[in-house]
Amino acid sequence: MPELPEVETIVRFLRPKIRGKRILSMEIRGRRVARGHKNPQELNRAVAGRKISEVNRTGKNIILELSGGARLAIHLMMTGRLFWNPKEKQIHDRLVLKLSGGNDLVFNDIRQFGWCRVLKPSGKLAGPDVLSLGFNEFKSLVSPRPALIKNLLLNQKVISGIGNIYSDEILWYACLRPTRRANTFSGRELKKFYQAMRHVLLLAIKKEGTSSRDYRKPDGTEGGYYKIRKAYQRAGKQCLRDGATIKRIKIGSRSAHFCPKHQK
Ligand SMILES: [Zn+2]
Repeated sequence: MPELPEVETIVRFLRPKIRGKRILSMEIRGRRVARGHKNPQELNRAVAGRKISEVNRTGKNIILELSGGARLAIHLMMTGRLFWNPKEKQIHDRLVLKLSGGNDLVFNDIRQFGWCRVLKPSGKLAGPDVLSLGFNEFKSLVSPRPALIKNLLLNQKVISGIGNIYSDEILWYACLRPTRRANTFSGRELKKFYQAMRHVLLLAIKKEGTSSRDYRKPDGTEGGYYKIRKAYQRAGKQCLRDGATIKRIKIGSRSAHFCPKHQK
């Protein structure tokens, strides 16, 4: 699933291209993508004719700010991708935003978990975006909770933006085991954790995300973080810090990769 760095990369790619463009219409192929609305026509009516004034991101959501104060949210979920002016139609295209200037923004999604909807004025999508958190706010969200830290990082209601890839990476840099309980961290561990989190996410944005499976940038090219990852999908390989063998364990339905030597 695309996480914060992938979604941020998409937003940065799209921003200069679609800011100021008008949505002429929305071609919806298949109802599931518009399931936040009564029917696809309602979604089309809510956005057609509006101008895109800004493109933002919160957590894993792409937000198009539209004229008249409307906000259109797009969530790629597992296999969703956005393509900018693709050459050909594809079978899993679910939605096409027809924009002024003859441009198409296409939402393609094999598994159809992704969605697109206009937010209600009071609409809250998830917990605070991880990169918006100062240290004290981060500490107040993490340190009272007895949850396993891997699960806490994946819980979008608490902190939004992190998924399976970057939770493994952050915990490797933070020297913390995924099975530690969040309320057991010392002040020093929390500081290191916070710094590791920002380091990993900003580095991954610089590398334009991780293309281990479905994720591609809107021009079809791959992100570069996978090559420099430290823990995610490295089970059986040597830890790049101390040479120990990276382990993979199951936590609930998710897997976690970690170094048993330096992650305590
Ligand atoms: Zn190690």
